[in-house]
Amino acid sequence: MSKVTDLYGSMVFNEHTMQERLPSATYKQLMRTIKGGEPLDIDVANVVAHAMKEWAIEKGATHFTHWFQPLTGITSEKHDSFIDPTPDGRAIMTFSGKELIQGEPDASSFPSGGLRATFEARGYTAWDPTSYAFIKDEVLCIPTAFCSYTGEALDKKTPLLRSMKAIEIQAKRVLALFGEAGERVTTTLGAEQEYFLVSERDYEQRLDLMLTGRTLFGYSPCKGQELEEHYFGAIRPTVNEFMKELDDELWALGVSARTKHNEVAPAQHELAPIFAETNRGVDENLLTMEKMKLLASHYGLVCLQHEKPFEFINGSGKHNNWSISADGKNLFDPGENPMENLRFLVFLTCVIEAVDEYQELLRMSAASAGNDHRLGANEAPPAIVSMFLGDELGAIVEALVDEHDYTSAERVSMDLGVDVLPNFIKDNTDRNRTSPFAFTGNKFEFRMPGSAQNLSDVNMVLNTAMAKSLKGFADAMEGKTGDAFEAAAIDYIKRTLRDHERIIFNGDGYSAEWEAEAARRGLANHRTTAEALPCYVAPKSIALFAEFGVLTETEVRSRYEVKLEKYNKIMNIECRVMKRLVRRDYLPAINRYAAKLANGIAAIRGVLPDGDTSFMEDKLRRLVAGAAEINRQLEKLHSLHRASVEIADQQERANMNAHEIVPVMDALRHAVDEMEIIVEREAWPVPTYNEILFYA
Ligand code: ADP
Ligand code: MG
Repeated sequence: MSKVTDLYGSMVFNEHTMQERLPSATYKQLMRTIKGGEPLDIDVANVVAHAMKEWAIEKGATHFTHWFQPLTGITSEKHDSFIDPTPDGRAIMTFSGKELIQGEPDASSFPSGGLRATFEARGYTAWDPTSYAFIKDEVLCIPTAFCSYTGEALDKKTPLLRSMKAIEIQAKRVLALFGEAGERVTTTLGAEQEYFLVSERDYEQRLDLMLTGRTLFGYSPCKGQELEEHYFGAIRPTVNEFMKELDDELWALGVSARTKHNEVAPAQHELAPIFAETNRGVDENLLTMEKMKLLASHYGLVCLQHEKPFEFINGSGKHNNWSISADGKNLFDPGENPMENLRFLVFLTCVIEAVDEYQELLRMSAASAGNDHRLGANEAPPAIVSMFLGDELGAIVEALVDEHDYTSAERVSMDLGVDVLPNFIKDNTDRNRTSPFAFTGNKFEFRMPGSAQNLSDVNMVLNTAMAKSLKGFADAMEGKTGDAFEAAAIDYIKRTLRDHERIIFNGDGYSAEWEAEAARRGLANHRTTAEALPCYVAPKSIALFAEFGVLTETEVRSRYEVKLEKYNKIMNIECRVMKRLVRRDYLPAINRYAAKLANGIAAIRGVLPDGDTSFMEDKLRRLVAGAAEINRQLEKLHSLHRASVEIADQQERANMNAHEIVPVMDALRHAVDEMEIIVEREAWPVPTYNEILFYA
């Protein structure tokens, strides 16, 4: 298949295929389920399952699986074949409606954060018909939600779907006030995925990369990203081949991979898709991540998706482009007449309120051990949530808050809510790359999420917080129409913006001044995962999720537990790898080299008793002192690590990891790195940054 248009979506049981393959009554019934949320009855499911199976077999599939997202964040699948033996020794291929809509994976090994203790371990998967089934490696994959028998969500998708429902209900109420029906309101997601590619050869020599996804040691490369030549630079031939195959595979899966380019850091790249409805967008992103890893191996490469594989150069994020669409109309599009403008301002105001009110939850949703090296460290974006609106929109908000008429750059004076807003959609020249939450023309870009993350959590929080502020507006406007509604709406906007304008910040988010200013404004600054997670279980968060039926208190608590445990487990692994490497690789290498140098000095002295060997002795002294320092830090880390694993309370252990262990890990790393640049190259046990980042 060479034509992209033929290839595109060829492995997806999409609407087009459904229409082609299903009897028209079945198709219509299924559409009512997909678009209108009506329950699916088993007779319809049987017909769909049969058509799906026939289609899948034609495409070479032999197995099917319920594809789901347990709390680990990555996807899970267990393959069952279609084969059904017949009494006469042959086999037929079967797939029933029941198998399509419900599955029972053995859930006992997935994290459940205590849900398992209280409830039955077994869970079931249920088809999410709003995300298309697809074929991957000869397996028909059916996107599903994963729940316990008592109905608790055991996955990341279920709450996301619930949050999409919540926002839909509230957005429709708001739209109704504007006389707009809104058949179907959905949120959209475009996930820009950053990643690194390194050679398999180097990767295999780095235990830290293999076991933790990041380099725990390594002196800064002689050349970093300062020349900015890699960004958007010509793509290396091997990488280009990789990207081409990736595009083809993704297109066949109906993933609209659109732009690909080199990123700022050496060996760093990015892929951005065309946005999709959020649940589908998350599925697509997870498929993209999986395919990237798999296909890299075809080119002798390894795809690193960790948020910070290398110190001293940029880490990888995953920008979460978010918008709300009503029957295909983007609600963050300012529109062209006064009522559309007002509607836009209402939705904008609600986002500002949502982000300010639930800034800590948003920060929490992006928290992970890996992302701690980006947020709040020396790179973008900071751990403080703030919003960037751009000059034009910023000025409009200011005018509303200060109650003066708005004067645009072209000096057009206007009375807000009556006249037409200027077309600031094009005002995105002044893009603020340091803002964690930026308005970019007709959508918002949340930049905190890390590259390794499943974006369900982020969007679940965002949607629910937004549902809350939309509800606030709809409740306040209840029963109002015409001019009274307009006046009340403008008044509401002004009041709400005044209450929440502290979250708006258009300056440099990396600066120390902003940190101080944000503190004055009372904005939260949770630098580490240990500080960010507790807000998940704060009464305010529990109340929010309960109000919109997104998560029960039990579900919230279980998720908090899972995140904490994951953080602590990662820290534990990193400590162990560090200690192992220092003891078995770095210290022996330094000692060997020191001994070699000492022998050399003795030998030279034997031949040239009055030769000046002082510079060699100096170096030897530095090596010996360096090894001693490494040993000191190692012992410190060792005892802290031992103490930490004794702490039963996971939050307490997380606090110790973040505040006591991380600084010692940094010191140990620094001590080893100092030796890396004075030990001779061939004596160093692993490939260094220079080699890994600038592979041939
Ligand atoms: P930018 O230059 O601001 O990054 P792009 O148009 O390149 O803007 O989009 C970046 C990402 O945002 C893409 O993945 C794109 O699909 C996504 N995006 C664009 N519009 C929307 C929208 N309405 N909702 C969600 N994501 C969107
Ligand atoms: Mg980017």
